[in-house]
Amino acid sequence: SSQAPPEQHIALLAFPFGTLVAQLHMLARALASAVPEAIFSFVSNAENLVPLPHSSAGNLRLVPFRGGIENGGSSTTLFDRIMAVAPEKIRAMLDLAEVNAGGVPVSCVMTDAFAWITESVAEEKRLPWVALHSGFSLAMLAHIHAGDLRSRLGFAPEGMPDRAHETLDFIPGLDSMRICDLPDGIISGDRNSEFSLHLQGMAQSLPGAAVVLLPSVPADFLEQDSAIFADLNLALLIGPLNLLSPQPPSPDPEGCIHWLRDRSPLSVVYISFGIVSTLPPGELTELARGLEDSHVSFLWSLKAEQRSCLPAGFVERTQGRGKLVNWAPQVSVLGHPSVVVFVTHCGWNSALESISAGVPMLCRPIFGDQRMVARALEEIWGVGAEFVGPITRISFMIAMEGIMTGIIGHKMREWTQELRQRTTEAMFPGGGLFRNFNVLVNLIRGR
Ligand code: UDP
Repeated sequence: SSQAPPEQHIALLAFPFGTLVAQLHMLARALASAVPEAIFSFVSNAENLVPLPHSSAGNLRLVPFRGGIENGGSSTTLFDRIMAVAPEKIRAMLDLAEVNAGGVPVSCVMTDAFAWITESVAEEKRLPWVALHSGFSLAMLAHIHAGDLRSRLGFAPEGMPDRAHETLDFIPGLDSMRICDLPDGIISGDRNSEFSLHLQGMAQSLPGAAVVLLPSVPADFLEQDSAIFADLNLALLIGPLNLLSPQPPSPDPEGCIHWLRDRSPLSVVYISFGIVSTLPPGELTELARGLEDSHVSFLWSLKAEQRSCLPAGFVERTQGRGKLVNWAPQVSVLGHPSVVVFVTHCGWNSALESISAGVPMLCRPIFGDQRMVARALEEIWGVGAEFVGPITRISFMIAMEGIMTGIIGHKMREWTQELRQRTTEAMFPGGGLFRNFNVLVNLIRGR
């Protein structure tokens, strides 16, 4: 007679920064419905659990943690919040998950890759660590090969303007990237900033993860030369999380969708620079001037406190064709037929959401992996165009003209739709992303 397999219990520890809690929860929802016989404990600060959408999977438990991980708060730096995920807190979260599940021992721990401190705790407890890398995979590859990049190129705090456009073809997988696309802290910038050191720690820890999950699109160049797979135990490209685990529409208190309904198809420019980044004030002013003078309709997610940089009278003069909001339900906005282009900072989530909706992008990367994302969108996938240098009134107007009426805009839209189509297909049974997700599912089942 066959014995029932021991119960699997997956602890997901959600690190409270930016969108990471929501991202990990999307993964948790998808896994919990794929593996109904396992228990999933999603542990985070109580206030982080409140806004999460309801899951129909009864085996996904939300476990409030009162161990004091620093949450939000404008005075807290990024690094403080990251380092708040100290080993003793991770141990306490794992203990809590077990108690909450009536003593069923945790069999696997999942976190965002940013919480790489987990690696040592997982090792000490002999648990597999599954890391969700919610940024761009090639930036991770660059961090893993930071030593090689430095020994080849040297280090110049101010950057290497005369070599900016040389490609990194000596690192397999990075051949389409240029020196100027590299994130700060690798061959330029501050190597010893807290954030750089944190990313170095991440790059050193990820090879110790049992699995690294990479939300991405199919036919990723990574699959062709598999450079990243050589450095990691098991890297799995999975689809965009918003497709893997479709979310109920987000609240829309400022009426974005209602406003979009009254606009003609392919007429509205959507603008957002994400949650963490802001455009330098002078550029924000220029962007506003460009919007004004190109006479396009626009929806701009711009926090009230940043609006002091808008030219005087901007809101009045663009009334009727422009709408400023503090927060837009971005996935629904991008999915609306009125939206023609997304002006973005190239955060990886935004890029994937735009591709998933078939909306081409105008790229103004700001920091971190965003320059590499912008390069990939333009050079590898042909679904974006990058501003050359800072945004000016004129460069913005030229970009608008190209998108609205030019052949480039038309081509970019076609390619984005095609990439969207290929991504969706790859997530159906028989597709590569579907297969990868099932590798993870089978690992969780202990097979
Ligand atoms: N977002 C949103 N509405 C806004 C601004 C941002 O829904 O007005 C969401 C967006 O859909 C994305 C996330 O916030 O999922 C931003 O993540 P991304 O990786 O693009 O940028 P980050 O803020 O992490 O730099």
